[in-house]
Amino acid sequence: MYSFNLRFPNGKSRAMTFSYDDGIPADLRLVELLNKYGVKCTFNINTAFYDDGNEPDNRLKKSQLKEIAENPLCEIACHGHTHPYYNALPMANLTNDIMKNRNASEAITDKIVRGFAYPYGPFNATSEAALKAADIVYARTTKSTKAFALPEKWLEWHPTCHHNASLELFDEFMGNVKPWQAPKLMYVWGHTYEFDNNNNWELIEQLLEKATKEEGIWFATNMEIYEYVEAFKELVFSADGNTIYNPTRFDFWALVNANWQPDSGKVIKIPAGETIRI
Ligand SMILES: [Zn+2]
Repeated sequence: MYSFNLRFPNGKSRAMTFSYDDGIPADLRLVELLNKYGVKCTFNINTAFYDDGNEPDNRLKKSQLKEIAENPLCEIACHGHTHPYYNALPMANLTNDIMKNRNASEAITDKIVRGFAYPYGPFNATSEAALKAADIVYARTTKSTKAFALPEKWLEWHPTCHHNASLELFDEFMGNVKPWQAPKLMYVWGHTYEFDNNNNWELIEQLLEKATKEEGIWFATNMEIYEYVEAFKELVFSADGNTIYNPTRFDFWALVNANWQPDSGKVIKIPAGETIRI
């Protein structure tokens, strides 16, 4: 074997994921669009606003959050219990906030919640340590890369772009993935109230319509991307690389033996629990 590159489920070389913040009523309109197009999304919630049974009109109700959590197209993740600045608090405050956020999110959804989006976006070494201590496995920033790489550090997961820039970047995303390259990820984030404020719901619908016409895109929640990419690292290889054991619960796909030629290499499947020879 002389090359081995991760490919997404069914050998796809592109994935898209979406991330929407604050758990607000306009999220329900986005969920309708997700249902219509079969696209997945992660919703990040601030749980302090539900603590006293007071569920204000500008936030989703617990029952609505639970319904979103039960939708197979959706993931609920943390976004700070009180939505504080995670780069501007001491460790104990942060640990307290994230643990309250996790506990409340898990109580509302009846699921394990290990994802996170930084309130307002900023982070530092203290916040990363606090998230790690709380077993948060990924954390999204608001720093748009305008690029399509998988994150180097899961606790500094920079998105591709805010949804405002998504349509113009989509064509670039659909450009060639060279055989020797890693697959592409387009990560779009925002707030659904922005579609109301800017009266531009057609923007996200256009993006979803365009994206779902393509066959080569894996639509996944943030957590599904994290789990697939991380578990892929557990593959076990023989010395020459030609025998591969998959000890995980995931079926994996990879592009092997690619060279500089555009259509070179072969996509292989490595089923969960099996050993294959290439
Ligand atoms: Zn927020």
